[in-house]
Amino acid sequence: MSIAEIIAKTRDAGPLSADDLAGLIDGYVRGEVPDYQMAAWAMAVRLRGLSAQAISDLTTAMFASGDRLRRHGDVPRVDKHSTGGLGDKVSLILAPLLACCDVHVPMISGRGLGFSGGTLDKLESIPGLQVDMSTERADDVLRQVGCFIISAGPDIAPADRKLYALRDVIGCVDSIPLITASILSKKLAATLDALVMDVKVGAGAFMKTQDQALELARTLIQTGSRSGLPVQAMLTQMEQPLGYAVGNLNEVIEAAQVLRGEGPSDVLELSLSLGAKLLCAVSRASNPEAAAALLDDQLRSGAAYERFQQMIHAQGGRWSQLPTPSAKIAVTASESGYVCGVDSQQLGLWLVRNGGGRERLGAAINHAVGIHLVRKVGQPVRRGEPLAFVLGCKPQHVDREYLKQQFTIQSQPVPCLPLIYDHLNTVDEASRLA
Ligand code: URA
Repeated sequence: MSIAEIIAKTRDAGPLSADDLAGLIDGYVRGEVPDYQMAAWAMAVRLRGLSAQAISDLTTAMFASGDRLRRHGDVPRVDKHSTGGLGDKVSLILAPLLACCDVHVPMISGRGLGFSGGTLDKLESIPGLQVDMSTERADDVLRQVGCFIISAGPDIAPADRKLYALRDVIGCVDSIPLITASILSKKLAATLDALVMDVKVGAGAFMKTQDQALELARTLIQTGSRSGLPVQAMLTQMEQPLGYAVGNLNEVIEAAQVLRGEGPSDVLELSLSLGAKLLCAVSRASNPEAAAALLDDQLRSGAAYERFQQMIHAQGGRWSQLPTPSAKIAVTASESGYVCGVDSQQLGLWLVRNGGGRERLGAAINHAVGIHLVRKVGQPVRRGEPLAFVLGCKPQHVDREYLKQQFTIQSQPVPCLPLIYDHLNTVDEASRLA
């Protein structure tokens, strides 16, 4: 079938064969299918969806576009991946933290997507740090350090690297088939024994409702199972940013604080819960409580922070040259009361518009741009007190009124938001919820 026919069939929700999808992906990676045709196809998927079989075939085609990383002996290989949210720096914490527990963590991550930040962009705030690595070099780092965080590239899931960047700038991010294939193609290339998905739900996530998030979790678990990759999922709250730090450099600093045992409690709790699932999945702990205690020990002893430094060094980063966030500009409350909402999506879009993310394919990022929250949902504030500080921007570029409007304040006390909504541990659980 020609590419134009594949696009038309997808647009009409017709059946696509594994060969159609393999031909499309192969042609795109070779540069024979141009971005405009791929953009039209991605939009057709975004609007019409794909069958479960086609999602699985797309995942296989994207995974088969590159190499598979080698295993080292029988050390279990684990990973966690988030579907995208604001202030989510958990990958930066979990890679070195889990590596302290006798497992390997070969993380193939993504860049910022839409309004949500990306682990690779965050890491590149560290001067010199390389996220592009050959499979040989990645293998060496994994053997030496026990973890890495790298990008899909010419060798590893190259189809995702191209399609991911394209989706980011054509309004095709929030598509369950495309998210599933994007994530699982990278994870299959990493030859994992267990994957835990952090499926974000809420205003600051691509899945706005729990029903949508459940469908994404179920699709990830079932597609993983068809490819022999055990996937578990947690549904977690993304009504407001995770932690206090938002923005690339700012989030790296907060992740380092958590690794030193000093960071915000929501980031710590989520990191421990996700990490505990993985340690149990590969029998490094007998239950989630024991696993969380093991992880907590690695934070308290300083081992996890040291491992983080080793990973940065192995990836060429110069931590001692990390810039200090500059120019704190206060966004203050116009009334007294309790914060009852922080619009993560609008804050994320503001960051993108101000250089903290990409509006065009391949655009450069200003890693210093960030927002540091001072108040979150449930906390009291008095008129004139800061709700947040803007970092790395010239005062004349900061629209404080706009930012202020993203915080809703009411006079009555407001409960804090829950952090974790649900756990899906098996294919059976995922199927029961269908
Ligand atoms: N993370 C990914 O790797 N891909 C997506 O599409 C969304 C989140």
